[in-house]
Amino acid sequence: MLKYNTIKYFFWSILVSTVLYSLFVQSISLYFFIPLVCVWLIYILYGSFRMRAEIFLSSTCSVPKAGATNIILTFDDGPDPKYTPQILDILKQAQVTAVFFCIGKNIVAYPDLVKRIAAEGHIVANHSYNHSTNIGSYSTSKVMTEIEQTEEVITGCIGSSLKLYRPPFGVTNPNIGRAVRALNMKVIGWNVRSFDTVSKSKEAVLNRVTSGLKNGDIVLFHDTKALAADILADFLLFAREKGFTIDCSPIREL
Ligand SMILES: [Zn+2]
Repeated sequence: MLKYNTIKYFFWSILVSTVLYSLFVQSISLYFFIPLVCVWLIYILYGSFRMRAEIFLSSTCSVPKAGATNIILTFDDGPDPKYTPQILDILKQAQVTAVFFCIGKNIVAYPDLVKRIAAEGHIVANHSYNHSTNIGSYSTSKVMTEIEQTEEVITGCIGSSLKLYRPPFGVTNPNIGRAVRALNMKVIGWNVRSFDTVSKSKEAVLNRVTSGLKNGDIVLFHDTKALAADILADFLLFAREKGFTIDCSPIREL
């Protein structure tokens, strides 16, 4: 997909040259500008909600490796005192590892859970400090503060950080792009979404995450929801029966 930093100069050069033409050569109707502005807004909105388009930042949304049949589980928004331990128990029993994108303030609230996540071979990663619904309107420095505070509490809790960041809600924009580049963070997305935060049905979530599963997929769950804990054992069984390994180490190697 075309990068924002390239397209913005193209867009502004068209706009400015058209305005100059209209002022000094021949008047152009305002209606000409409406589709131009609409295309620009659609492009910005698409890029904001489609991390995989990589319009504002580079991201990893799948990790296919030649000769391997591996999938990567990710759990967002924890740690949660109720569901994170249940999920860790299931993962431990199945002997698989995952990535936990933790919210900074939850790390401060439940440090022992974060230590357990790391001690059991999983990756603890950064999912902002507050997970604010307004983070899409934050300045670059405010986004940087959210990321830096969370890096500090991760390092303070488990001693190190892989500098992996997942933007809350998967929302990206120019400020978030600048913040992750300035802090040298690796952005991790997903390509299989469970919708476990909105779905009411275990069957629907399980069907969604099992259909079309393929090598390298990054699957998004939330360790703050009962649904993720409820279907996890069945999902792991399905993946194993289909011949997949479930191992987060390809993320460590990025
Ligand atoms: Zn989240």
